[in-house]
Amino acid sequence: MRPEILFRLFAPVASLPGIGPRYAKLVERLAGPHVVDLCWHLPSGLIDRRYSPKIAEAEPGRVATVILRVGAHEAPRSRRQPYRISCSDATGELDLVFFHARLDYLTKILPMGQERVVSGRIEAFGGRLQITHPDHIGRLEDLQKLKTVEPVYPLTAGLTLKPLSKAVQAALACAPELPEWLDPAYQARQGWPAWRDALSAAHAPQGPRDLDPGTPARARLAYDELLANQLALTLVRYHQRQQHGRVLRGDGRLRAKVLAALPFALTASQVRAGEEISADMARDARMLRLLQGDVGSGKTVVALLAMLNAVESGAQAAIMAPTEILARQHHKTIAPLAAAAGVEVELLTGRDKGKARRDAVERLTDGRAAIAIGTHALFQQDVNFRDLGMVVIDEQHRFGVHQRIGLAAKGHAVDMLVMTATPIPRTLVLTAYGDMEVSRLTEKPAGRQPIDTRTLALDRLAEVVDGIGRALESGAKVYWVCPLVEESEVSDLAAAKERWAALGARFGIRVGLVHGRMKGKEKDAVMSAFAEGDIDLLVATTVIEVGVDVPKASVMVIEHAERFGLAQLHQMRGRIGRGAAKSTCLLLYQGPLGETARARLRVMRETDDGFRIAEEDLRLRGAGELLGTRQSGMPEFRLADLAVHQELLGAARDDARLILETDADLQSVRGQSLRVLLYLFERDVAVRYLRSG
Ligand code: ADP
Ligand code: MG
Repeated sequence: MRPEILFRLFAPVASLPGIGPRYAKLVERLAGPHVVDLCWHLPSGLIDRRYSPKIAEAEPGRVATVILRVGAHEAPRSRRQPYRISCSDATGELDLVFFHARLDYLTKILPMGQERVVSGRIEAFGGRLQITHPDHIGRLEDLQKLKTVEPVYPLTAGLTLKPLSKAVQAALACAPELPEWLDPAYQARQGWPAWRDALSAAHAPQGPRDLDPGTPARARLAYDELLANQLALTLVRYHQRQQHGRVLRGDGRLRAKVLAALPFALTASQVRAGEEISADMARDARMLRLLQGDVGSGKTVVALLAMLNAVESGAQAAIMAPTEILARQHHKTIAPLAAAAGVEVELLTGRDKGKARRDAVERLTDGRAAIAIGTHALFQQDVNFRDLGMVVIDEQHRFGVHQRIGLAAKGHAVDMLVMTATPIPRTLVLTAYGDMEVSRLTEKPAGRQPIDTRTLALDRLAEVVDGIGRALESGAKVYWVCPLVEESEVSDLAAAKERWAALGARFGIRVGLVHGRMKGKEKDAVMSAFAEGDIDLLVATTVIEVGVDVPKASVMVIEHAERFGLAQLHQMRGRIGRGAAKSTCLLLYQGPLGETARARLRVMRETDDGFRIAEEDLRLRGAGELLGTRQSGMPEFRLADLAVHQELLGAARDDARLILETDADLQSVRGQSLRVLLYLFERDVAVRYLRSG
């Protein structure tokens, strides 16, 4: 249960004074649902209102706070003209200008003959000084209150700075003093303030340097977030390990049959990964291992062998994929191989309903099926196993920690292998999984040819289409990826349909279309027509990004390549270059290119080493954006920026380890504070593993 001291921070934003339901919705969309989310919404800029000149000295272009005597109100003669109020001080004159003004309001706050303090940007217009729509208007006694530095926050459409700032201030007022969870010596060395003070300071920048992520206030908050992340992972990990695992040590008979049925020999890194996994499984502790391998590096076979190891020792195994297409593809690869070893496999996805589904579930429950392949449908409540001993999670970054734990709970002391095709850099492995053991597939299967990647401006589209025509003539299979239009599937779809129609008109019936809104069955039909049927040119939205394996495809065109991230480009390109034929990837871009986009395209031309690409990606944009964290289940950091706070991450990991060694159930005084920290950053999952107290 969340500690009481945090209750107010986790109240809904609508509970804040002055935030009606309409604003609450906007604030929620911008920052998050809880008061605490507003606390994490740090300023991105500031307005310095301390400049307070006499009118004669006021410099146009600067924000100033000036004392004025209100003069005559001059109502506009037409609706398009503004309302003007001429004001003055002893040194000169200055107009206040309002468009679409409400008269009664202006006469009330700016009564003629009175002195007022006004803050806003000074402009020179037609030889006169003016302020258009002052940001603040107050009485003389408000001068000191207005002559301050005001934080500027990232905004969203429909939400202006003033109400948002008010909301943030109200949120900050809810922040209590919290017991210190930092190691006192470390905190002193870093010169970091207490949590509450750090929060206030981060929201009250006095100059541009205070916006730097390295300031003590911001660094502390970032560290808190990283510590919560590392501590949660370490705790979950540790307590999972405490539970006894089971020894899964197969005799190799099923694996031998599969190896004999494979049309190829394993690569050296596949062999090594297999040995590492077997060694883990044979141990009396639960396995938690990450299998990292670039697209096409052959993770599926490694996973299958690991699952068979479990089956050989009498247990069942399951592999969970993030999408329907991928689950079906795994099934297609795995089922015949498993059959060669006499092992029964069951496919279970969200699409399976009724009797077929009941039968599948029954075969898993009574143990007739030894291997389950599926999507998240696998951990629905009615799915049970006779004895699930091993779980493989594919493309793990798309699942959250909760789901991972969900599937593991279906078995007893389940060994877990997590596979990712995204070559996550070390730093991110650490934040997503903690200190997990890692096996890497570093080589591509033999016989793969490097992909020839070229970048071309979009205005050469006609040439590209001609070239595609020639490739199709010579029997090539071609992917044509349509651009991300905006964050809306609808317009992505419109663009893809248009391209599909145009290419179809040119090349005839050999052109297919696949997109995210298609029903699973339709998608499968198109994909298999492309894989082995009469579709040679496949127009696609980004649904092909993950996993799909069509070894014959050797050409890929990516439209508006500048709109995609590096990781995404790499994932997509990995769909070709899988067969014996030489492959070509054409990245079409719309100029002029920004610096980052240019760098991304250059990296794509220079290398197809996924690990290098991932490192470059991390360098080119902050870690937050990497992998498109939003839908990814990768931790999203609000305060830490891994591009600048890498060192803090290392320190947080070490800190977490030390805490574990000395106080694994967080029972000490510091331990109690650390519990608060975990709740503050919503790492409640980890707390569940602790003994109470
Ligand atoms: P990924 O790591 O992207 O999941 P897959 O497991 O889908 O890669 O393998 C990609 C392709 O490479 C598949 O067609 C698979 O049969 C093939 N493959 C896997 N291992 C080898 C190997 N050692 N030699 C040749 N081909 C292999
Ligand atoms: Mg795969």
